[in-house]
Amino acid sequence: MSANGVLAATLVEPGRYELREYPIPEVQPGCLLVKMQVSGICGTDKHTYQGYTAQYGGAGEPKPVPFPIIQGHENIGTIAAMESSPCTDFEGLPLSIGNRVIVGPNISCGNCYYCRHDFPYYCCQNTRDYGNNLSAKNPPHLFGGWSQYLYVVPGSFVVRVPDELPSDVAVLTEIMAVTVGLDRAKQISAFPNESFRFDDTVVVLGVGPLGMCFVMKARMLGAGTIIAVDLSEFRLEFAKRLGADHTMNASKSNPEERLAFVRELTQGRGADVVVECAGVPVAVREGLDLLRLGGLLVEAGNFSDMGEVSISPHRHLCAKNVRILGVGGEEPAAYGPSMRQMARYMKHYPLRDFVTHRFALRDVEAAVKKSMAADSMKVVIDPWS
Ligand SMILES: [Zn+2]
Ligand SMILES: [Zn+2]
Repeated sequence: MSANGVLAATLVEPGRYELREYPIPEVQPGCLLVKMQVSGICGTDKHTYQGYTAQYGGAGEPKPVPFPIIQGHENIGTIAAMESSPCTDFEGLPLSIGNRVIVGPNISCGNCYYCRHDFPYYCCQNTRDYGNNLSAKNPPHLFGGWSQYLYVVPGSFVVRVPDELPSDVAVLTEIMAVTVGLDRAKQISAFPNESFRFDDTVVVLGVGPLGMCFVMKARMLGAGTIIAVDLSEFRLEFAKRLGADHTMNASKSNPEERLAFVRELTQGRGADVVVECAGVPVAVREGLDLLRLGGLLVEAGNFSDMGEVSISPHRHLCAKNVRILGVGGEEPAAYGPSMRQMARYMKHYPLRDFVTHRFALRDVEAAVKKSMAADSMKVVIDPWS
């Protein structure tokens, strides 16, 4: 914080950041002020920076991003000020000044059809998202984590970070919580022949940070053979350290070769489960191609509208008896379990190596570009460096 205010990297429009200073907010009843420690760069942040600014198109017209915004929704910090008591976190633990917390990125309205029927936040018709669709135009401005302080409004959820979990690992919690898509798939397997079952073959297309968490989660939940596909050799090597049995470099193979490889590993059938995290529409078609009959595609990569891809309804859907599970985000109840399991698995997985690059606020553009580079995993913003 400078003498006058709070510094925050502000995305004024796609492709243009400004380091802006905002007034130190007065904390209103029911609100929190969180002093940021670390904030991750997510695939959605990259897409917004690149100009893919249409989101939540599922119910009709997509919602545009209300520039200027302060990005950052994978947020770890400590409570600097609070204006309500008693105050508890999502799991009912008491909150006090100095507690290290993760701030859930989304605020559901609680009143729409989907909220009232227990759908996750990304179905809420009035969802507000830190770092994404709360404009920095409106006071108190600090609605994203690429800032020295984050302002937390009523209706948000906050989860305390276990002491044994370093902040550089806790920053993975939001994407780890998105892998709740595989928990859902596990529930579907209560029906005969449905994936995702014990020992199922799982292909993960795109092992950036989100895909990497799916690799880990698939192993935790009892996957058999796991195959990771990516353009980056660096990321594929890391995927092996996180439990992938086989890797295929998509820049050195074509879709036919990848299909042949997966079929060879599955006695000619194809994968039981494909998780699409590449975030490009064409990967969805390839995912469908890689499935066995009646297999399950988990689609988690195209949160922003990245365009369209053609499929054959006969070959890809009907004749294949395929299942598709769209996953638009995470669920608040997945945060605590994700943090505790990551703490538990730190001795098995190199989770401390997940954050490969840290950047100061003034270097935000370089940070976003690095997060798109083949030699990076999770890139984070450290607002106090
Ligand atoms: Zn995200
Ligand atoms: Zn709602």
